[in-house]
Order: sequence, then structure tokens, then C-alpha cells
Amino acid sequence: MGVIVQKYGGTSVADSQKIKNVAKRITQSHKDGNSVVVVVSAMGGSTDQLIKLAHEISDKPPERELDMLLSTGEQVSIALLAMAVSKLGFHAISLTGNQVGIITDGFYSNARIKSINNDRILSELDQGKIVILAGFQGITIDDEITTLGRGASDTTAVAVAASLNADRCEIYTDVDGVYTSDPRVVKGARKLDQITYDEMLEMAGLGTKVLHSRCVELAKKFEVPLSVRSSFHKGEGTIIVKESKIMEEVVVSGVTSDKDQAKVSLIGLPDTPGMAAEIFQALADASINIDMIIQNASQDGTADLSFTTAEKDLDKTVEIVSRIKEKVGFNSVNGDFNIAKVSVIGIGMKSHVGIASKTFRVLADAGINIQMISTSEIKISCVIKEDQTENAVQVIHDVFELGHVDNKVSN
Ligand code: ASP
Ligand code: MG
Repeated sequence: MGVIVQKYGGTSVADSQKIKNVAKRITQSHKDGNSVVVVVSAMGGSTDQLIKLAHEISDKPPERELDMLLSTGEQVSIALLAMAVSKLGFHAISLTGNQVGIITDGFYSNARIKSINNDRILSELDQGKIVILAGFQGITIDDEITTLGRGASDTTAVAVAASLNADRCEIYTDVDGVYTSDPRVVKGARKLDQITYDEMLEMAGLGTKVLHSRCVELAKKFEVPLSVRSSFHKGEGTIIVKESKIMEEVVVSGVTSDKDQAKVSLIGLPDTPGMAAEIFQALADASINIDMIIQNASQDGTADLSFTTAEKDLDKTVEIVSRIKEKVGFNSVNGDFNIAKVSVIGIGMKSHVGIASKTFRVLADAGINIQMISTSEIKISCVIKEDQTENAVQVIHDVFELGHVDNKVSN
């Protein structure tokens, strides 16, 4: 008898009827002969509601108390789901992170799982029960309640699956799987049957919010067989696998965009050693995450430097950089909110030439100017003007024929 871990997101347990539907699905898997462990998010919207409540009380709620508060969202949904399963005549038990022993570090609101104690879960499964776990929460060795970051119930599910060495981990959500691009925006976006961990990591990190990125990292590390599927209807969804398991390799798997980006440009830096170190050290000290960086030197002994950061960090970034303007000795700094990053992703790029040139050509033909470029083995990203994002994604999606099932090459 295999162990399967199923995770249901907030939209799948948003009201009592939906909770009853989830209960039916779970009991079906149990009847099929599996040991079922379920990880649940808080009922849709309830975490936001709790955050709002906290901010009505204080604009800076103590971190510890915020985690104490947010962890209650999942405690509600696991209890209700366990009741729904019992109502169907099956044995179920709900458990919090504390009861299981999901041990985390002490970084409130963004804690990381250090270990999971399987004992309680296994003994409940042994008694024939369906085990329903609270996602998104854990406990420190000092018995403090922590949460793992927004959307992190996915991460709980994969961590539990890895710890139990489960046969599979199924993430049930409100979409049917992973798409070549956002189906709400891009005409012809197609659901992928399979995708590699690495591609999924790029997609998760780039604004395709189907899965929490840390969950994909963990799944890759422990080779957890992972799938994403709809909790509302049947269908195989998308499976996420190791590269070597992909039978037919697609050159490009998807196009994503991220509008939550801003660009900072420094003009007239002295072209001498240590300048970049000085600037990025100051930003690192303030915990500001930098993404793309380009620097070019001109002939007069100065250099220009541009980089991107999250839109929310732009003001702080410009302020920090301005503070060291005299010390570093550059002429000016300016920030630009009005940009977006568009990325083309595919493991097939490793072995195919011409993907970059084709991307740049199609953008040029659409009159879209590329302000910055960065590449990796499986990704090409371009910074463009924000209001051209939808168009850019569509023309790239079209040129690589991502809507067609047969855009594949055999290994
Ligand atoms: N309830 C948490 C959130 O809304 C965790 C999750 O849903 O995965 O972010
Ligand atoms: Mg989610």
C-alpha cells in the first residue's frame, strides 16, 4: 500500500460545500487502497482577512503574534475537513504542525522546515486513518509557532512527502495544471503534460504562481514525484519530473512575465575596481534582492550600471544608492517602475541554437525595445516597457508555436 500526499489550496476548501467535495476525493483515494495524508491551506481569503485584522490593530504587529494568528487559518480548515471525512463514514484525524513535529527555524513569517517527525503520522495511518495536516505552519525547538511564507502549504506537502518517502505528492488547485503561459492573457496557451523540476523552478520564480518556489526546490532535491491538478474536475494535470524522465524534449516550454520589477540605473561610475562591490554590498546589507545586472564601460573612463529589483524595493534602493553617491563618485541615479521582465524557458535550449535570436527578432518586429538581457542554460529574460508585456508574451508564444502539441523534438 502506497502513501500519497495530497494538498488542497485555499480555493479548494473555500466553503463548506467545497470542503465536502474534497472529502469525497480524499476518501476515494483511500478506497483505492492508498494511505492518504492530506495537507490543507486556510479557507480561501481567510489568511488575507487575518492579516487585515492584525493591521487594523497595529501597523507593525509583533512577528511572533502575527504567526500565532495566521496559523489559526489552517487549524480551521483541517478540523472542518476531518469532520467532513468522518461524516462520510471514514476515520480521519486533523493535526497541527506542532502535533506532528514540523520543526522549523525561528524566522517568523518566513520560517524554513528543518525536520519532520514521521511517528505520529505513521501511527495514525497504521490505524487506517486519513491524516489531515495543517499546511504553512511549524514549531521551533523552543515551542514557538511559525509560518512558512505566503503560499507555503505547497512546501509543507512536498516536505511531508519527502519525509515519508511517499509514492507521490499531488497538489490540487484551481487550475488544471501548468500552462505554456498565462491562459487568461495569452491566446492559445496550452496545458503541459509534463515539465522538468528546473523549468518549473524558473516558472515558479518568475510570476507563474501555480506552485510555491521552495516547494519545487524541495521536490527536486528529494526527487519527490509531483503533480499539479484541478481539485474541481478530473484530469491528469501536469507532472513535474527529472530531466532524464522526459521522453520528448521540447525546446521551449513556456513564456512568463513579471511586472513586479523595477530598473535602477547609475550613470558615470568611475571605471575602477571595487565600485560594484561597494554598491551591491550596501544593498545586500539592507537585504535588497537584485536580479539582472549589466555594466558597460565607455571610453572616457566611466561606466554605467543598471540592475533590476522588486518594485516594492525601488524607493529604498534609490535612497541607499544615493547615500553612497559621493563616496563612490557617480553622476546620477534613476529608478524606473515602468518595466517588466519577459522570460522564455526550456531545457531544450541547452542543445539548440537560435532561441535567443528568434526571441529578439520577434520582439523587434513587434516594435518592442529590449532594455536588458540575461540568459542561463534554460532561460532568456528581457526587460521591456511594462505596457508592452502582454504583446511581448503573445508574440514569443506564437513564434515558438507553444500552443501546438507537436512542437517537440525527440531525444
Ligand atoms: N494560507 C497561507 C496563505 O494564504 C498558506 C497557503 O495557502 O499556502 O498564504
Ligand atoms: Mg497556492
